[in-house]
Amino acid sequence: MAKIIDGKAIAAKLRGAIAAQTAQLKEKGIVPGLAVVLVGEDPASKVYVSMKEKACADVGIFSDEYKLSAETGEEELLELIGMLNRDPRIDGILVQLPLPKQINTDRVLEAISPEKDADGFHPYNVGRLVIGKPLFQPCTPYGVMVLLKESGVDLSGKEVVVVGRSNIVGKPVALMCLQQNATVTLCHSKTRDLATKVALADVLIAAVGVPEMIKGSWIKEGAVVIDVGVNRVGEKKLVGDVEFAAACERASAITPVPGGVGPMTITMLLHNTLESARRRG
Ligand code: NAP
Repeated sequence: MAKIIDGKAIAAKLRGAIAAQTAQLKEKGIVPGLAVVLVGEDPASKVYVSMKEKACADVGIFSDEYKLSAETGEEELLELIGMLNRDPRIDGILVQLPLPKQINTDRVLEAISPEKDADGFHPYNVGRLVIGKPLFQPCTPYGVMVLLKESGVDLSGKEVVVVGRSNIVGKPVALMCLQQNATVTLCHSKTRDLATKVALADVLIAAVGVPEMIKGSWIKEGAVVIDVGVNRVGEKKLVGDVEFAAACERASAITPVPGGVGPMTITMLLHNTLESARRRG
């Protein structure tokens, strides 16, 4: 049976270290600050924003919330971002996605100063990741890398198969694994014979968004499985992209859903904000 990679426990350990480092920085007169911008009334976005604020408060990071109406125009939002870019109390700016239709998301993300881009979505930070000299790294893939490291998985020379090529998870995590000297295969919806590709993986990273579409029987004996997928099934149940019970029979280690990658995402946001504050001045 696979060892369960406990994302909750790893995240809690990291948050403890972040709290201690934040307290040390405060002694030098620096309080890390995160601005959280929410436009509109999307219920899931509201929940995420309040979770992020609570997480900041728990580790001693100052957070400043800007709630704008769903009718907010692009220029108004860009003005706010300009103001936050200049605000010396703010080390990280997070604009909760999705944005309402009248706003061009790319323009907004590119308006955030790359030095305050706590989500790591600005093309400057994406480019730095591509050349192996990252500044801010996007939180979910960064969290995946920390889970692997904390689980003692050395990626050098390993076959890593990533399923999903989104800009926020699949592509950046593939680049991060490449940087750790893995041989990376990046699969997507047009990939032929996915099962054969998955069967090659020493480390499988699934970020698809389709409940349990990766079958346990595809997984190589002893592989490490990181399941980024969060899929609601029925009213209450959450499942990943990997057929969990069957995968446990073959994998050496696996992340559960929930309680695997999920808790790491906000933790890495806190980490990014703290690191940005350290670079102040
Ligand atoms: P996304 O933007 O929808 O991308 C999904 C990717 O999966 C695409 O590249 C797509 O291929 C590929 N795909 C879809 N069907 C496929 C199939 N049958 N075979 C192979 N590839 C297929 O999703 P995302 O934002 O990356 O998120 C992926 C999952 O991770 C979702 O469940 C999401 O909720 C979860 N997630 C979790 C966290 C967290 O904090 N835990 C954070 C972010 C996302 P094409 O490019 O060809 O369309």
